[in-house]
This record gives sequence, structure tokens and C-alpha cells, in this order.
Amino acid sequence: MAATETCDLLVIGSGAGGLSAAVTAAHLGLKVLVVEKEAQYGGTTAWSGGWMWIPRNPLALDAGIVEDIAQPTAYLRQELGAQFDAERVQAFLQQGPRMVEFFRSQTALQFIDGNSVPDFHGRNPHAAKGGRSICAAPFDGRSLGAHIQQLKPPLAETTLWGMGIASGAELRHFFNALRKPASLWYVTKRVLHHFTDLLRYRRGMHLVNGNALVAGLAASAFAKGVEIRTSSPAQRLLVEHGRVLGAVVNGTEIRARRGVVLACGGFPHDAARKQELLDHEHWSAASRGNTGDGLRLGESAGGQVARDAVQAAALAPVSLVPQADGSFAHFPHLVERAKPGLIAVTANGRRFTNEADSYYDFVRGMLAATPSGAPVQAWLVCDHAFIHHYGLGAVKPAPIPMGAMLRNGYLQRGNTLADLALACGIDAANLQATVQRYNQQALEGRDADFAKGETPYNRVQGDAGAGLANPCMAPLAQGPFYAVKIVPGSLGTFAGLRSNASAQVLDARGYPIPGLYAGGNDMHSVMGGTYPSGGITLGPAMTFGYIAAHHAAGVDL
Ligand SMILES: Cc1cc2nc3c(=O)[nH]c(=O)nc-3n(C[C@H](O)[C@H](O)[C@H](O)COP(=O)(O)OP(=O)(O)OC[C@H]3O[C@@H](n4cnc5c(N)ncnc54)[C@H](O)[C@@H]3O)c2cc1C
Repeated sequence: MAATETCDLLVIGSGAGGLSAAVTAAHLGLKVLVVEKEAQYGGTTAWSGGWMWIPRNPLALDAGIVEDIAQPTAYLRQELGAQFDAERVQAFLQQGPRMVEFFRSQTALQFIDGNSVPDFHGRNPHAAKGGRSICAAPFDGRSLGAHIQQLKPPLAETTLWGMGIASGAELRHFFNALRKPASLWYVTKRVLHHFTDLLRYRRGMHLVNGNALVAGLAASAFAKGVEIRTSSPAQRLLVEHGRVLGAVVNGTEIRARRGVVLACGGFPHDAARKQELLDHEHWSAASRGNTGDGLRLGESAGGQVARDAVQAAALAPVSLVPQADGSFAHFPHLVERAKPGLIAVTANGRRFTNEADSYYDFVRGMLAATPSGAPVQAWLVCDHAFIHHYGLGAVKPAPIPMGAMLRNGYLQRGNTLADLALACGIDAANLQATVQRYNQQALEGRDADFAKGETPYNRVQGDAGAGLANPCMAPLAQGPFYAVKIVPGSLGTFAGLRSNASAQVLDARGYPIPGLYAGGNDMHSVMGGTYPSGGITLGPAMTFGYIAAHHAAGVDL
């Protein structure tokens, strides 16, 4: 072995799961080292929306939204069913608000509220219409100094010239830029600032969403003396007499007096594990460095990967965007499906689910609609007015030109629905009949087939400003018509190492493995593979990181 180093806590992986533990542990006085396999830190977290589901969070309380812990507990009990693990759920719900208070009062990471963001499943009587989510507040990248160079930039396909766009009011401005002078003014200023940053710093400095979350966490980590060592893959754990003592990283033995946190982002790009745990071909939009290392490291020390999740991944529809080098970027469809004037159909030309439901529910609908053995795929179909206003997947709204996306085959276009159906290989007669029926229902504002627009979540995702009877429904009126093919993918994985309420990894008998913690998606999701609300990966990742750090430091919560 080349060399030996020593720290108190070794954190493997630099997404939300790892960095939350690192910042908290350093605050509690531990010497912390974060090792990151990629050349840049941030993982999928840096590509994410940065939303965290934290019921009873301090920002909701500040706004007068007060609920008893029994409410979110009841919501989760109904959502999770047999997967409800009372101990871990209580730890998450009790410590989540404390975690937020810790970060906002003691670190550089600040938050904005989600007080009007509803839970996914409004028919659950315990669902909230808002107040259970928070997002990372925009962050000035300049305060990271030279460390900004190693911050993973946002996922290119979801940005405009590399500029992340915050959900909510900012995104609405971008959609309305050609309609409202105030929005045009906002967008012009924002784009000009961005180009000034590109000239000066070669990247945008007004960081939003998950990029702001990682930047805030990293800035806090650096301020508390944490080293984030990039291009440093953990290769194996050091285990003696059942206790984890550290890891071998890039050939160096790193001893960790208080333990090791596995936070390698689950297995979205581990072909073998995907084949074992997912029943379909799967294109994850998560970071490519997440190849299941943490799960394998955990298993090498006796950890157990859960195999009973409702879904092993955080399902989301993905389209494959051709790249110049012949590869495909995986674009997650999180925003436009609920907007008015779009339907999703399978090759038989028929709708199969409520397009405005969550990405997870949408893909479950896709899977259920696909006969066994057939490829799981569908098309998002819209008319010209829609794509002009909202864009479609990786195709941006006007005035950004769409020619390149037509030429590379990502976007299909037809002057008539029949032409479009032919280009995509969809049953033309059925597609025409589907659109005719849908258009009639859109005029009435009621989706008799799939109840689109009937939950608070659907409506928030729609377009309330469009003045429609149903904010998620408008006729597909005037050609040309457009389509993008979608396939099943995910935002990350849910199935992970079985852990207890202190984030300790458990062995086959259910006992904690001394010195070993799981964080982020390396920990088996507290949601058990269900998806009750947006932010249910980052919320628990931040909370259990905070919990793991306290446990490792020997500080009671
Ligand atoms: C477009 C998009 C939007 C999303 N929006 C949201 C949202 O708003 N809210 C939400 O809750 N979830 C969201 N998600 C999902 C969320 O981003 C992930 O679930 C979350 O970031 C996972 O965090 P993590 O810490 O487990 O992993 P990551 O953030 O992926 O970090 C893991 C890190 O570990 C590193 N690593 C892997 N192996 C090793 C090794 N051997 N040694 C060292 N390092 C290693 C990886 O390179 C990576 O940097 C979104 C996902 C996407 C793709």
C-alpha cells in the first residue's frame, strides 16, 4: 500500500447525501475527508431541481403553516403501505426540520420555501397543498472562489446555454418571454448577466436548483475545513473483525476513526444490478459516475441491498438526445407533460395515463400499458402552438430554433397527425381518433379518461395563467404536429443498503455494522420505492446525512 492517511469521518461521494454528512460532522468537530470519483464534485445532486421534501420545515412554520407530525406520518403510512418503517420514518420526520434549521443558521446553504407546492397524491386525505418542501436558494458561485472550477455544472440539456433556470416564477418568465413585456425584460436581463459571467468566468455564476444546493453545501464544507478530493474513487473498504476502519482510495489507505459514509448515488448506471432489480430496459438521467460502487462496498462488509422495493428506481420518462459523438444524453421529462396541449400515446395511438401526474406515476402507467415482451416506449405529441410556447423535452421554446433537433431525428414533425404518425410508427387512425376525443374533452375542461387536472399537483404543474377551464388541457388544434419518443428511466435509484434510523448499515441479521453508514441513494429509500412527493430523495439524503454525522460524532440528537 502506497501511503496511509487518517481522518475521523471518510465520506465517499460528493452529492447531497455525502456533503450533508460531511458539513454536519465538521461542524461537530470531526476531521472530515470527502472523496469523489469524478473530476468534479456534486453528482446527480448538481443536476437536480434541488427540492427537498421536509414536512414541518422552519420556512413553512415562518409562514404560519403548522401541522402536527401525525399528518405527514399518516400521509406516508397510506402511501408506503407495507413498506412503512415506523422507526426510520419518525427519524426522518423528526430530524428533517432540525436539519434545515442547522443548515440555514450555521452554514452558507440557504433555502426558499415550497409553501404552494402540493404533494403528488392529492386524493390521499393526508396530502398537503403546500408547506412540505423547500429548495436551495440561488447561490452566488463567486463565493466558492477557485473551488467553483470543480463544481459539476448543471445538466446541459436542461439549461439554456449552460444557464440553469429555477422552477416556479423564473421558469414562468421564460415560458412567457414572447407574451409579456415584464417576462421579456426579466429574461433579457438574466441572459445578459449569464453571458457576462461566461465571458468573465467561463461559466454561469448565478447558481440555482441542485447546482445551488451543492455549491451551498460545498462552500459550507470548505469553510469548516473539509477537503473534497476529486478524481479519487474509493476501491475497497478496510474491515477488521467486522468493523469498518476506512477505505482504499486511489491506492491510498485512508483510516477513519469514526467511520465511513457510503454516498455513491446508488446504482443507476450499474448494468448488472439494473438487470437484477428492474423489470425493463432503463435509461437513467442520473450522473454517469453512479455505477453502484457504494452498494458493492457495503456488501463487501456484510451490508444487504433491499430487494423488495415497490420500484427499485425513482422512475421518470426520458428521451434520448443524439450527441455529436454518437452517444445519447438522457433528458428527464419533468416539466412539460402537464402543460395544456400535449398528450402521450403508445404505438397503438392511444393515451394510456394522466400526463400531468408525477414522472414516477407516468412511467408506471407506461409499464402497465406495455404488453409483456414489447419495448416500453411512448410518444409525447403536441401541436405547433404548444412547442412554440413550452418547448418539448430537449427542444426549447421559441425563439430558440428547433432545426437541429429535427435534423438529428430527436424531434418528429408532420403537417398532419397522419404524417406524424407515419414518421413515428404510430397507428394513424387511432391517433387521429384519440386527438379528436381529447380535443373535445379539453374544450369541456374534463378528462373523462384519465382525470387530468383534477389534483392540486396536476394543476400546479399545468398553466394556470392560460385562462383555460382545465389548466392541463387544451386542444391540439393546428399543425404542424410534433412528437418526441420517450422510454423508461429514472432520476436515481431507490433500492439500497438496509440501514437503521441512525443511518448505520445493517448486516444480514439486522445488526449495525460498526463504522459503516449509508447516505443518499446508497441507503435503501425510507420511502420503500414509492414516490409520495417531489423531493423525497434529497430530503431524506440531507436528513440522514445530518443524522449519520451526529451518530459518528457521538452527539445525541
Ligand atoms: C434532472 C434531475 C432532477 C432531479 N430533481 C430532484 C429534486 O428536485 N428533488 C429530489 O429529491 N431529487 C431530485 N432528483 C434526484 C436526485 O438528484 C438524486 O436522487 C440525488 O441527487 C442523489 O444524491 P446522492 O448523494 O445519493 O448521489 P449523487 O448526488 O449522485 O452523488 C454521488 C456521488 O458519488 C460519486 N461516486 C460514485 N462512486 C464513487 C466511488 N467509488 N468513490 C468516490 N465517489 C464515488 C459519484 O461520482 C457522485 O458524484 C433529480 C434528478 C435529476 C437527474
